[in-house]
Formats: sequence, structure tokens, C-alpha cells
Amino acid sequence: MSEATSTNSGTNANVNAKVEFPKSNLRKLNADVGLSKFPDQMRRKSLKKGFNFTLMVVGEYGVGKSTLINTIFESQIFPPKDYSIPNKFDAVDIKPISAEIVENGILLNLTVIDTPGFGDLINNQHSYESIIKCIDSRFDSYLEQEMVMRKQKINDQRIDALLYFIRPTGHNLRPFDIEFMKKVHTKVNLIPIISKSDTLSKKEINGFKSRITNDINSNGIQIFKPAVDIFDSQESTLSISDITSKIPFAVVGSQDFVKDSSGMLVRGKQLPWGVVEVENENHNDFVKLRKMLVSAHMLELKSITDSVLYENYRSQKLLMNGYIQDNSVFREYDPIMAKEEELKRHKYDMEMMEIDMTKEFERKVEEKELKLKENEEELYIRYKRMKNALDLQIKELKEQKDALEAKYGPLSSIKKKGIFGL
Ligand code: GDP
Repeated sequence: MSEATSTNSGTNANVNAKVEFPKSNLRKLNADVGLSKFPDQMRRKSLKKGFNFTLMVVGEYGVGKSTLINTIFESQIFPPKDYSIPNKFDAVDIKPISAEIVENGILLNLTVIDTPGFGDLINNQHSYESIIKCIDSRFDSYLEQEMVMRKQKINDQRIDALLYFIRPTGHNLRPFDIEFMKKVHTKVNLIPIISKSDTLSKKEINGFKSRITNDINSNGIQIFKPAVDIFDSQESTLSISDITSKIPFAVVGSQDFVKDSSGMLVRGKQLPWGVVEVENENHNDFVKLRKMLVSAHMLELKSITDSVLYENYRSQKLLMNGYIQDNSVFREYDPIMAKEEELKRHKYDMEMMEIDMTKEFERKVEEKELKLKENEEELYIRYKRMKNALDLQIKELKEQKDALEAKYGPLSSIKKKGIFGL
């Protein structure tokens, strides 16, 4: 259970160290050198400094942004609203709210940037301008600090993910949604969400999801999808494809508790035809969204913001300002280094494949040898059985011979007759 200790009190801590393993040179230790205690060190460090995570929420008034954020972090990050007061927007506002969230000794310095007014202006063409300005100015601030101070000291306010709320209309994306997504997809990790999915049937959701996915793909919009790594176990590979299969997430947000069918109190909504549970995976994709955002892929979101989206922005900005970036300094942008990295990865894959094939070959040889041994044993048993039977037959014949000789004298004294009995 997480706990928001205070609001509007963001810190500057930034735990964003990137460790690169030379993959083809990986050593598996047989002895314990204490490396497995590293998560404990990380935990202590996190306890002191905390992780920074900045999330932007975009969508029209009343689409369910604040409810969902409060539900994800199980805290009152957004204060309750008075819906009786009509809202009129002259421009899109940018409203950052900070909260410190602690769970089992891990501190998260969360900043949620609300964008009231988005999609609610008379001329919505200008809706996205303030948002783009906000994303860019946070990159600029990082760039300016990076030029004069060490990375660890930088107050990192870059946006790590943008949750884009889509109304549960069941139709297609609107041209406005597409226009906005195209403006921001190269600047932030874009995560599309169908909010209030309890207002649609399962069939309507599936149809809506596939129309949204088609619109996203046909417009060349990049959205965030967790990537499978060569170090991922089979279990985590499955978990990633499970998460990816739910994108765009159709979610339900609620801070209320209702009784489920067994009488247990659960987070959910009481509808005229029954209860919809927030954390029931048969009811909606909330659990998968939260898993991706918080427990499984938060660091990946931060890493992409730092090494892809920001680097992209920086090189363009420097180019615009007349600087030519020395790409050899930035591994991600140096084609030779990138190629080398790719070759290393390929070599590692080939080595792994060779090991797998050798193992498979050895397994098959072992299997064959076992079969041959079984056949040999079976043959020996058959040989033994036949030999016993023959021995028995010989013994019986010998007994008959002895009996005849006792009656008629030795067989050698009986004169053999010719074929005509002469
Ligand atoms: P925001 O303006 O985008 O922040 O929207 P709110 O989170 O304040 O939600 C607006 C209204 O929608 C409130 O009355 C919420 O209780 C309701 N709401 C939020 N999420 C859901 C949901 O998943 N399902 C349903 N049925 N109502 C929701």
C-alpha cells in the first residue's frame, strides 16, 4: 500500500544511472561475492534520495484523469473537484502537482502535470501548443543545466510519460486526437488510454481498441510499448506480451469501495447491473496499466526519455543553434558504435543458439543410447528364454533316449536298415 506523504514538495533526486553490460563477456559467478545484495543498496539509496517520475495527463475536462491518477497511486494526489461549478477555459493551463509516495521503504518523488483546458477551448487548434511548449521547456532546462553542471546534480524535470485519455465513444480517433499525438510522439513516451471503459460493453471495447490501433498505425504514431530484452526470462517475456496485448488500455478509475459478489470490499463502481471492480482483470485493464507504469517499466520509461527522446531533441536543438554534435560521444547516435553493439548482440545470440543446439544434440544422443541399451537388454532376455527352452528340450530328448536304451539296448547295437527295409 503506497502512501503520499505530502504534496507540492518535489525534490531534485535523480536515480537514473545506466549500467551497460558487455553482453558477450558475461560471467556467471559460482561464488557469492555479495552482488545479489545490490538491490538492498539501491533500496537504501532510494530511501534516501528517491526516484523522480514525471507524468503528464492530457484529455478533456471530466474524462477521468484525476480519478485514475488517484486510483493508481492510492492517494489523494488531485484534490476533490466541485462539479457544480461550470468550467470555462480561455487557454490550456499547465499545472504540476508533486507528491512523495513511499512504499516498503522506496520513495517516489512523483510529479503529475495536469493540463486543464485541453480540448475544451473554442479553438482547439491551439490546445496542443502549451503542452508542446511545456515538454520542450523541460528539455531546454535540462540541456542548459547539463552544459554547466554534473549529471547527478541536475534538477531533472523532463516528462517521462504522457497519458492520453480517449473518451469512451466507441468510434474512431478524432482528427484532433491524431493531430495531437503526431505533435508529441517523438518527444514523450505516449500511452493512450480509453477511460471510463465501464460505459462500454466488452464487444464495443474490442472494436474501439482495434479502430484506435489502426488509426495509430496508419498515421505512423509511435506509442510506448515495453521492449523484450535478451536477459528477460520466459516469464517476464510473457508478462510483457500480456501487457502489450492490452494497449490501448481500457480502464476504470474509482476511489470508492463497493461490495463484490462475495461481500468483500473492493475498489470499484456500483452500476445498475452490478459491480465493476477496478482491480479485476476480467473487468478492465487497470492492473496492466499500473504494472507497466509503476512496478515493471518505470525505469524503462525514464531510460527512453533520457537516451532516445531527449537525445533526439538535444541534437536537433544544437544543430539549429549551429553546433555540430560529435556523435562519437553519444553511443546511441554513433552509427559505428551502434553497429558494433548490434554485432555484439548478434554474436551473443549466436553463442546462445549454439549452446542450445549442443544441449539438444547431447540430449538426443543420450536418448538414443538409452533406447539402444533397452533394446540390448530385451534381446538378451529373449536369447536367455530361447536357450532355456532348448536346454529343456535337449534334456527331455536325452531322457527319452535313455528310456529307449533301457528297453531295447544301446542304440549303437541296432542295425540300421536301408531305405527299403532290407
Ligand atoms: P478529469 O476532469 O479528467 O480529472 O475527470 P475526473 O477524474 O474528475 O472525473 C470526472 C467524473 O467522471 C467524476 O464524476 C468521476 O467520478 C467520474 N469517473 C472517473 N473515472 C470514471 C470511470 O472509470 N468510470 C465512470 N463511470 N466514471 C468515472
